[in-house]
Amino acid sequence: MTSVDVAGTAVDTRHYIGGQRVASVSTFTNTSPIDGSFLGEIARGGAVEVDLAVEAARNAFPVWSGMPPAERAAILNRIADLVEESVDSLAAVETMDNGALLRSHLRGVMPRVALNFRFFADWLVNHLDHPDFETRGHVNHVSWDPSGVAGIITPWNAPLMLATWRIAPALAAGDTVVLKPAEWTPLTASLLADITKRAGLPDGAFNVVQGIGREAGAALVAHPGLSRISFTGSVPTAKSIARAAADNLTPCSFELGGKSPFIVLADADLELAAELAIEQYDNAGQVCLSGTRILVHESIEAEFTEAFRRKAAAMRQGDPRDPATDIGPQVHEAHFARVKGFVDRARAEGATIAMGGGPNTELGGLYFSPTLVYDPTPGSEIVTQEVFGPVLTMQTFSTDDEVLALANGTEFGLAAVVVSGDRQHAEAITSRLVAGTIWVNCFFVRDLRAPFGGSKKSGVGREGGTWSFDFYADVKNTVVAPNGWKE
Ligand code: NAD
Repeated sequence: MTSVDVAGTAVDTRHYIGGQRVASVSTFTNTSPIDGSFLGEIARGGAVEVDLAVEAARNAFPVWSGMPPAERAAILNRIADLVEESVDSLAAVETMDNGALLRSHLRGVMPRVALNFRFFADWLVNHLDHPDFETRGHVNHVSWDPSGVAGIITPWNAPLMLATWRIAPALAAGDTVVLKPAEWTPLTASLLADITKRAGLPDGAFNVVQGIGREAGAALVAHPGLSRISFTGSVPTAKSIARAAADNLTPCSFELGGKSPFIVLADADLELAAELAIEQYDNAGQVCLSGTRILVHESIEAEFTEAFRRKAAAMRQGDPRDPATDIGPQVHEAHFARVKGFVDRARAEGATIAMGGGPNTELGGLYFSPTLVYDPTPGSEIVTQEVFGPVLTMQTFSTDDEVLALANGTEFGLAAVVVSGDRQHAEAITSRLVAGTIWVNCFFVRDLRAPFGGSKKSGVGREGGTWSFDFYADVKNTVVAPNGWKE
């Protein structure tokens, strides 16, 4: 069986290499987190398929990188057009595959997939520039040259959005790409391959090798034919990728986990604070940027908690295809067990489970109730490690120094949320927070021109706008002397 029907869309279950579909002898089983239903047997690639894909990408490199930027941009814009035409089917397939809300896929995620291509096409043609400058009469000219083949490895929590956030700038920079999607969510990468073909992307410029991380993923990052490795996922995997990349000195970009603080200052608008706090349960808590550690000033704790509970009680958990649902399932039974383990151990350590605390017994399956862990043991794993589920913790503080020590007190530094009614107070806090992105009185406002990435163990490098090209391209400076010309 080379194709499966998922929510009315035919999805090819094979790899996509050099513009052709390629099968593997072995497969892995893909099921839906919504109800455990069987979605397909997916090609299980390894070193052989990775070799083929990197070779195809290397062969396509002269064609793609040699195309004038405006032609490359036109093809990326055609991909964006086709994504926009396919929003309904992409959204329906992604929801079946990873269990995230259909309404979010329709309204936010899939339009953002199209924007990823449009944005970097536009940036390549209209904004990728550094003004020439002089050194003793010599002119310095900065340019961004295609570097080769980018190996891209992505997670399951927002599969197509996160993959295209790296694929689009890599292609715009003139690189060719080998993608290894997460094994729990392989389907929309295959649909994207079909779209790139229809958009006229040269064969081999984009390749998909399906498979398991320690098999296909490990083979890809160890391949000497890559010019770049872009990885979005967990810290332990990033460490093993960095070790593999060291042998070839392949440059890596890492977007990793977080344990972001959500700070409610005494002067905050508490209705706004509670509203924003509830948003940290988005995607059933499977969001790297979530502010999962609520740090609330002791003077407003009772009032804030009341508003939080009221809003949390209005959330509906259920089938992510239902437009009335706010929280869907966890992505996979192994992940569900991991989330449950964190909460069980916190309870055993004496933390108060103020809300939720276990599987949703009415729904069964992979539905974990939105949970609030109150007053966890300082320094315990529930407040230092990433749970990546619908689990928030709440701690109180009395001074700015105290909240900053708590906020900065993990190995992560991806994001932070600050809720305050006093501009100066908010600035006094944000200037001392260690995080790649900070939201003040808001959450998840994203502009692709902005630098995006993590501090400390949350990542290596920044992307967005020219930062993305700085990674995928070979940045070059050409110095031209005023003399020596024959004319
Ligand atoms: P993961 O590290 O387990 O897997 C991510 C990808 O790496 C998958 O495709 C997997 O197959 C592959 N992989 C696994 N082992 C590998 C190996 N040895 N060599 C090469 N590839 C390998 O992470 P996950 O559980 O899929 O994703 C969740 C993590 O991703 C969380 O930590 C989350 O915070 C993080 N994340 C970060 C961002 C960000 O932008 N900073 C965005 C989304 C998710």
